[in-house]
Amino acid sequence: MNQEISKLIDLQGIDSELDGFDQEIKAKEQEIVAREQSIADKETKISLLKVQTEELAQSQRDLKAELEDALARIKDRQNKMMQVQTSREHQALLKEIEENKKLIKANEERTLQIMEQIEEAEKNALELANLCSGEKTLLVEEAENVKKAVSKILARKKSVLDQRMVLIPELNPGTLKRYDMLRQKRNGSAVVPTKNGICQGCFMTIPPQQDNEIRRGEKLNFCPTCQRILFFLAEDAEPADA
Ligand SMILES: [Zn+2]
Repeated sequence: MNQEISKLIDLQGIDSELDGFDQEIKAKEQEIVAREQSIADKETKISLLKVQTEELAQSQRDLKAELEDALARIKDRQNKMMQVQTSREHQALLKEIEENKKLIKANEERTLQIMEQIEEAEKNALELANLCSGEKTLLVEEAENVKKAVSKILARKKSVLDQRMVLIPELNPGTLKRYDMLRQKRNGSAVVPTKNGICQGCFMTIPPQQDNEIRRGEKLNFCPTCQRILFFLAEDAEPADA
């Protein structure tokens, strides 16, 4: 096989490996972002629950004031009962006392509901706070692991980049330029094999005459459809399907 073709195959291998490292790093960093987001979401919920609890506590105070007013009114009407002369006046006062007693009953029921709601909100906030604190501990550990993993990946990347540095000067600048352009346009894949006369980049059929040229491997060939650089991968050299 032509030296330039085999070097381009090596370069594609190196660049795909480098892309893989970048994706690995990105995925690791994404894990941290997801954990941070999960903590932030819980903290937002805790804040909302605190606001809710404060509002409920205010309602509780309002209800207490209303209750005291109603009790005072009952006491006032009871005092007045001793001074009234007519049965009509007496009845009117009794009616008012009854109404205030109803108010008190409703007030007490509502107060009980609010107490339960406060309890529930406080319980939820506490659960979330516990979860948050656990997640924060995990995040610190995870961030440390990611840091270590990323520096390992970067070390591997460095050694592959060194291989690339050695290879680059051995390639024709015009071919390199074409290769780089293809990598940009074709999602990182510029050099692909053909299999049974089909480009493995775009899966279009190569004209038979060009396929023969590719099999001979004497000069650079480009896919007529996707323009990728093509090479022939002998059947017995193909990796076995996993
Ligand atoms: Zn193609």
